[in-house]
Amino acid sequence: MAKIQMNTPLVEMDGDEMTRILWKEIKEILLAPYVDLNTEYYDLGLENRDATNDQVTVDSAEATKKYGVAVKCATITPNAARVKEYNLKKMWKSPNGTIRAILDGTVFRSPILVKGISPFLSTWKKPITIARHAYGDVYRDVEMQVPAGAKAELVVTRADGTQERVTIHDFETPGVIQGMHNIDKSIESFARSCFNYALDKKEDLWFATKDTISKKYDHRFKDIFAEIFESEYKEKFEKAGISYFYTLIDDAVARVVRSEGGYIWACKNYDGDVMSDMVATAFGSLAMMTSVLVSPDGIYEYEAAHGTVQRHYYRHLKGEKTSTNSMATLFAWSGALRKRGELDGNEALMAFADKLEKASIQTIEEGVMTGDLYTLSTLPNKVSVDSETFLHEINKRLAVLMAD
Ligand code: NAP
Ligand code: MG
Repeated sequence: MAKIQMNTPLVEMDGDEMTRILWKEIKEILLAPYVDLNTEYYDLGLENRDATNDQVTVDSAEATKKYGVAVKCATITPNAARVKEYNLKKMWKSPNGTIRAILDGTVFRSPILVKGISPFLSTWKKPITIARHAYGDVYRDVEMQVPAGAKAELVVTRADGTQERVTIHDFETPGVIQGMHNIDKSIESFARSCFNYALDKKEDLWFATKDTISKKYDHRFKDIFAEIFESEYKEKFEKAGISYFYTLIDDAVARVVRSEGGYIWACKNYDGDVMSDMVATAFGSLAMMTSVLVSPDGIYEYEAAHGTVQRHYYRHLKGEKTSTNSMATLFAWSGALRKRGELDGNEALMAFADKLEKASIQTIEEGVMTGDLYTLSTLPNKVSVDSETFLHEINKRLAVLMAD
C-alpha cells in the first residue's frame, strides 16, 4: 500500500520526558507505516531550549504562523528544581506561554469519552469543552516583594505624558504585589474564537468571571463578550438554536457540577488552567484530555492537556516498563493531521486521522488499556498493558481499518 502523501509540512514540536518517549513511538508504530510524514521539526526539549536560549520556541511558533498547523509534545516548564536538574542557564518561560503569546489564540480542551469509563459526576452525559483564554493575566504578570514601610502604587503614563496613579497598599509590614494586564484586542479575539467554535460545534457557550469584585478588569471581559455577541453573533446563535450565557464564576462552577455537559465553557486564563484539570479528572483521566490552540486568524496548534508525566519517566529511566496513556498525544497528532488535510484538501490524510482515532477508541472499548484507565474502567474483560504494547494493539486495529 502506498503511503499517504502530505503536500504542506506540519510543524512538529518535540518535548520532554515520558511524552517525548511516547512521541517517538507514536511516530514509529502508528504514523510512519501509513503516512509519508512531512514535518518541519523543532526540538522543544529542555536541553535544546537551553542551548538555543529558547529561540527554538519562538521559531516554532513563527513556523506555525507560516504553515497554519502544529502538533506539540508536552514540555517541562522550568522551576527551581528543573534549573538544577538540567543545569539551565536560566529559568526559561513556559513554552506554551511563549507560543500562546505569539499566536494570541484560545485553547479548547475536550475529554475523549469511551465506553466503560463514566465521569465521576453521574450527571455528566456529554463532553464539556473548556475554552481557555491564552493570553495575559497572571501568566504575563510582574510581581514584587515589598518591604515594610513601603507604599505601592499603580501608575499609568499616557502617550501625552499625563499620569494616572492609585495606591495599591501602604505596607506597614512586608508583603507582595502583582501587576497584571490584558488587551482589549486579545479579549475580543478570545470572544470571537469562542462564539465561532460554539457555532461550529452547535453547542451553548457559557462565560464567567468575577466582575462583582473585579469591577474594571473582569468587567471589561464581560462587556467585550456582551458587545460582540449583541452586534455580531446574536442572530447566528438564534438560527443555530444555541445560546450564550454569562454568570459569575462561582455560580458557574455550581451549575457545571449539576449540568449534563454538552457545552463550551469559556474561562479566563487562570480559571481555564485550573478548571480544565478539574473537568479532565472528573471525566476520567487527565490523559484523555485533548487540547487545541486556535488563533483568531485560524491557526491551529494541537497538544495533549497533560504534562510530561515525570514520575513515569523516572521509572522508564530505571529500565522499568511504564503504562503511560498516549491517547491525548495521539489525538493531538490526529487532530493536526486532519486539520492539515482539511486545509490542503487532502482527503486521504483526513480519512487516516479518523481511522487512527477510531482504532484507538476501539482498543480501549475492547478492554485493552493503560493502567490509569484500567483502574477506572467498568469493562469486565479489561486488561492493563504497558505503553508500547498499547500502541501496537492500536496498530492491529488500525491496520484492519486501513486495509478496508
Ligand atoms: P503530568 O505530567 O500531567 O502528570 C501528573 C500525573 O498525572 C502523573 O504523575 C500521572 O499520575 C498522571 N498522568 C498524566 N498524564 C498521564 C498519562 N498520559 N498517562 C498516565 N498517567 C498520566 O503533570 P506533572 O507531573 O505535574 O508535570 C510534569 C511536567 O510537565 C512538569 O515539568 C510541568 O512543567 C510539565 N507540564 C507541561 C504541560 C504542557 O506542556 N502542556 C502541561 C502541564 C505540565 P501517576 O503518577 O499517579 O500515574
Ligand atoms: Mg495546568
